[in-house]
Amino acid sequence: MKSLVIGISLLSVVALSGPAAAEEPAPTEPSATPAPLVAPTGVVAAQVGSSVEVTWQPSAGALEYTVTADPTATTCTSVTTTCVFEALPKRQSYTFTVTAADATGSSPASEPSLSLIVKPVLDKPIFRKSKVLVGRSVRGRKIWALRQGNPLAPTVLLSIGQMHGSEPAGLKITKRVRKKKIAADADYQVWTIRTVNPDGSRRGNRYNARGVDLNRNYPGTWSSGARNGRRPASEPETRAVMRFVKRLQPNGVLSFHQPWNTTLSVCDRRSVQWVRRVATLIKLNQPGRASNCGKWLPGTLNRWTARNTASWFVTVELPPRYRAARSIPRAASAVVKVAEEMAAEKLLVAAR
Ligand SMILES: [Zn+2]
Repeated sequence: MKSLVIGISLLSVVALSGPAAAEEPAPTEPSATPAPLVAPTGVVAAQVGSSVEVTWQPSAGALEYTVTADPTATTCTSVTTTCVFEALPKRQSYTFTVTAADATGSSPASEPSLSLIVKPVLDKPIFRKSKVLVGRSVRGRKIWALRQGNPLAPTVLLSIGQMHGSEPAGLKITKRVRKKKIAADADYQVWTIRTVNPDGSRRGNRYNARGVDLNRNYPGTWSSGARNGRRPASEPETRAVMRFVKRLQPNGVLSFHQPWNTTLSVCDRRSVQWVRRVATLIKLNQPGRASNCGKWLPGTLNRWTARNTASWFVTVELPPRYRAARSIPRAASAVVKVAEEMAAEKLLVAAR
């Protein structure tokens, strides 16, 4: 059994080395009829960072309290009405009971707290700030990434609004996603990049300012071609995204394009469920096997991501005209919904 002692050592030191210990001990009268200790009440448990903090109402006359976590029977001892469990195994459900003790004995156990699932959290945020400079374009325009949700959540979704400057729908979707309220204690964090091609976006042009198709410039599957760049990762926009994704280590990536009205993936096992789920949520045509796994394009971000991270990757090909009143909100809701579902699935899978 693991026992965590908070604050009790201080009390012991005082009792042993206080002035009373050095002098003749005063004769102690046994108290006539000590009132029995009553059980503490109002036990509440909450996760704070990676720890669980348990609080309760005091019992009159108590000198010390012991909190027991069930089902692991881990205990925590305190002289105040708060005790912190630092190292309970995550992804488990717990209830907590408290007993009070005085010099003569212990109270009965309190009523248990409501059950609490201890969720996994990161030790520290991946990026300290919620707005991160990913890099700069050929013309020096800044590429920003914004975080919403819980900076310590282990489920990380990246949504890229635009890579080809002539495909504007994802810009509006990103704007809409960024207006959504995602709780700071959510089980996930959503990162959005409005465009990874700000120069092309400015001109409504598919390519970057040097005429390169950024989705043909990624290393690993690169091949030479008029629009593919002089060499793999020759473009600053490409290198910026690579650096950011390597550091972020997302669990899933959505990348918006137009105009095919379906979703595409790299056909890896990680992406297979999400490529269908995203098409359903956004109401796009379900991907056919052939369009998915048939011919590969060189130098794409999705294949680079599959080779360099553990993330799934879904390319979202919206229809050519994507401006129906309901379309943008639906796609924005889908982005958040995907993050939510990823987080729920991660908890379930790990708890098995
Ligand atoms: Zn595109």
